[in-house]
Amino acid sequence: MAYDVIIIGSGPGGYVCAIRAAQLGMKVAVVEKRPKLGGTCLNIGCIPSKALLYASEMFAEAAHGMAPLGIVVGPPKLDIAALMKHKDDTVAANVNGVAYLFKKNKIEWVAGEGRIPVAGQVVVKAGDGKETTLEAKHIIIATGSDVARLPGVEIDENTIVSSTGALSFAKPPAKLLVVGAGVIGLELGSVWGRLGSEVTVVEFLDRILPGMDGEVAKQFQRMLEKQGFKFHLGHKVASVAKTAAGAKATIEPTAGGASIELEADVVLVAIGRRPYTESLGLEALGVATERGQVVIDAHFATNVPGIYAIGDVVRGPMLAHKAEDEGVALAEILAGQAGHVNYGVIPSVVYTSPEVAVVGKSEEELKAAGVAYHVGKFPFTANGRARAMRHTEGFVKILADAATDRVLGAHIVGFGAGEMIHEAVVLMEFGGSAEDLARTCHAHPTMSEAVKEAAMAVAKRSIHI
Ligand SMILES: Cc1cc2nc3c(=O)[nH]c(=O)nc-3n(C[C@H](O)[C@H](O)[C@H](O)COP(=O)(O)OP(=O)(O)OC[C@H]3O[C@@H](n4cnc5c(N)ncnc54)[C@H](O)[C@@H]3O)c2cc1C
Repeated sequence: MAYDVIIIGSGPGGYVCAIRAAQLGMKVAVVEKRPKLGGTCLNIGCIPSKALLYASEMFAEAAHGMAPLGIVVGPPKLDIAALMKHKDDTVAANVNGVAYLFKKNKIEWVAGEGRIPVAGQVVVKAGDGKETTLEAKHIIIATGSDVARLPGVEIDENTIVSSTGALSFAKPPAKLLVVGAGVIGLELGSVWGRLGSEVTVVEFLDRILPGMDGEVAKQFQRMLEKQGFKFHLGHKVASVAKTAAGAKATIEPTAGGASIELEADVVLVAIGRRPYTESLGLEALGVATERGQVVIDAHFATNVPGIYAIGDVVRGPMLAHKAEDEGVALAEILAGQAGHVNYGVIPSVVYTSPEVAVVGKSEEELKAAGVAYHVGKFPFTANGRARAMRHTEGFVKILADAATDRVLGAHIVGFGAGEMIHEAVVLMEFGGSAEDLARTCHAHPTMSEAVKEAAMAVAKRSIHI
């Protein structure tokens, strides 16, 4: 059977690319070895984690947030089976949605593990070991990523877990030790912290959320500490050993000094993810890789003609929407159109409470690049809607070019930050200025008025502070 395109991997990169390619008239097959479509994101990533984050946020709200609104409820009780059912139902609805879209667009799902023996061919090994050879003009590697491991620390998904194990605890661990203060560690730490775990985070660097704006990270760390998080920053994990009660980790200050022993019921290793290309046969095929990533050009082409790659398996942030946009761009390029991804304007959201959402440059990046910029800031304590909802934690920070006023970065910590960030994303996509944003009418009373006020603050003319 000959196809125009065969995509290996059905995550947000692969399935979105398949749909766009089919819309453009191509005959498309997707090879997926997992029993369900949707990849990491839908099965064990973005979607299940957000289901748990929402439910645990409601639990915390019921425990602490209702009384000041005049709503008296008893202490909430956790029904973990129902919580997990909510997560599983959410995953199933999304996964089934992809299967429906495949049918609608006449995309064929070939179940099994794919490898590329030669350009133009994909061999698919089914669960029963049977191999089928498929042929296509274009082959797209969208095999995503896997959890990065700590050398010497074996993940058993029981006492020492990855993000996957931390999505399915049978009960909140009394003490949860999180290794890594990145997005996934802080999100899953928040879930279990709200449900009763004592959460301690160890981070190698001397700050949380590496790569994000330093001021944002510092203020956000204080908010998490108020919620009960304990941090050991600037520490590396020397060892993790299982004990009768759980696990014991030895951590060492990176600057030197005495090591510390931390006991925990469960240790979550969340030190990042690595590109996944195992069993594709890339080495024999001669496809170039660098630090595990498939090397591509500006049009997603590898060094082997007819083979392309997108998503977590290539350079750039490991984010679902980045993978999706690459999928769309590549399908359009293969159809002879001008597909393109603007890597300077990819938002990033931490779905904690409050949320953190950023797009564009941080202050540190602008300083390092020698770009002169102005800062406009506005706190939610001065926003009427935030006060009405008792969500006054956090602020908006807009960074604009000192000479042109073009917005170069937007940083929001606060309730609903992950939704509000998109007005900055659209503005930046169109090369807009802080004044453009400041002169755009915003409905009152909304949290988004703080975004407008921060833009006004760039020219030192905010009204409500
Ligand atoms: C806990 C967690 C939370 C996350 N939360 C977010 C979030 O909120 N927002 C966000 O943007 N990102 C989030 N991410 C990251 C996001 O999941 C990834 O960026 C995204 O899934 C990458 O998409 P992809 O298509 O490149 O690969 P993947 O989603 O990893 O999909 C790759 C697919 O390829 C399949 N595959 C691999 N090799 C083969 C083979 N040889 N043959 C057949 N099939 C194969 C795999 O089974 C998999 O299904 C999260 C990740 C985790 C782990």
